[in-house]
Amino acid sequence: LADRLEGAWKKLRGQDKISEANIQEALREVRRALLEADVNLQVVKDFVAEVQEKALGAEVISGVRPDQQFIKIVHDQLVEVMGETNVPLAEAESAPTIVLMAGLQGTGKTTATAKLALHLRKQNRSTLLVATDVYRPAAIDQLITLGKQINVPVFELGTDANPVEIARQGVAKAREDGINTVIIDTAGRLQIDEDMMDELAQIKDTVQPHEVLLVVDAMTGQEAASLTRTFHDRIGITGAILTKLDGDTRGGAALSVRQISGQPIKFVGVGEKVEALQPFYPDRMASRILGMGDVLTLVEKAQEEVGIAEAEKLQEKILNAQFDFDDFLKQTRLLKAMGSLGGIMKMIPGLNKISSEQLEQGEVQLKRAEAMINSMTREERKNPDLLSSSPSRRRRIAKGAGYGLDDVSKLVSDFQKMRSLMQQMGQGQMPGMGLPGMG
Ligand code: GDP
Ligand code: MG
Repeated sequence: LADRLEGAWKKLRGQDKISEANIQEALREVRRALLEADVNLQVVKDFVAEVQEKALGAEVISGVRPDQQFIKIVHDQLVEVMGETNVPLAEAESAPTIVLMAGLQGTGKTTATAKLALHLRKQNRSTLLVATDVYRPAAIDQLITLGKQINVPVFELGTDANPVEIARQGVAKAREDGINTVIIDTAGRLQIDEDMMDELAQIKDTVQPHEVLLVVDAMTGQEAASLTRTFHDRIGITGAILTKLDGDTRGGAALSVRQISGQPIKFVGVGEKVEALQPFYPDRMASRILGMGDVLTLVEKAQEEVGIAEAEKLQEKILNAQFDFDDFLKQTRLLKAMGSLGGIMKMIPGLNKISSEQLEQGEVQLKRAEAMINSMTREERKNPDLLSSSPSRRRRIAKGAGYGLDDVSKLVSDFQKMRSLMQQMGQGQMPGMGLPGMG
């Protein structure tokens, strides 16, 4: 997807104006790209029509290239469809908040149930998990095991009880115990079938949930659309959780789910572990679908803070990996001007899994790197390879900066690693890159 759009952008580049003629090809690429990302056909059609209208009506902003402006229009439209901001989980005025999980088998409902409980605990919301998947004994055990893992109680009545009755009693129990939120895990089938829908509908009628969350496997692709329509028409969903986004999918399902149900995606699952749940951020997802990480956000932020010209130069350098230690210094200062390192790192794909501890350490490491770079000669800064071949140069720098020889050697080798990673990024790959001195 990234490549296709990249191609379309390139064709637009060099044109001085967005016009009916030069936009058609770019629109075709967007359309093809979205289809390849497994966005539903009708959703794609609507989307492209909307982009076309906006692009043709757009005033050309001076200092911004038409291709950039076009990207922005596509991006903004994606964000508009997917919602402007994150919508948090509902909270009932009087406890318990009742959350009903829905979805096909294997999408990650049971896992998401536990993940959600852990997430809510961080907001000091107590939870009770309710096991209504009586069709597979292992399903109840799975929830019990997860509950133990995160120290959250699980309500179950074995495999002989009626799921509707289990749900009813589970909610009653939560109310009795003063629990803040009760999450009802349900059975799924491999395909949508009437019995499953009936049962879900009955559970819903009985417990009157505040949230019905459709759990959708991001790898489902095209199917996500019909799936969403069926569940939404039949049960009525209030939101969705998109799971398995840690895979290599671009997340086209997000667009379909949102467009078809009109309901927000509230969380994304990014791994098998119970910690692997994140709030859904539409703008980040838009960039992911476009295949450019949040480089866009980075560019926007840079435009605000340091002016378009410098931001473009920075972007170009990042993408072309034509930078040396001087650029690195400039870049870290630029990053500082744009806000904390943490804020920036969150926007770069692959870097958002870094913990705050690592980030703090990162900031310290950056300062050390800066000190060492300051002890380099101009020649050495321009040509980092001089240092990898000369221990005596490294020793001199170490002395000057007040660090060990090992520190300088590590800086140089990390820097070289980063440079080659960035080169890959410039070629459209997205490695989980590291900054010099980190890790
Ligand atoms: P359910 O049938 O809908 O209850 O699905 P489960 O919760 O049992 O999950 C099915 C499989 O998907 C399990 O092996 C999970 O570990 C896995 N899984 C669930 N969520 C995620 C996710 O976000 N990322 C990855 N990689 N695997 C997940
Ligand atoms: Mg399950």
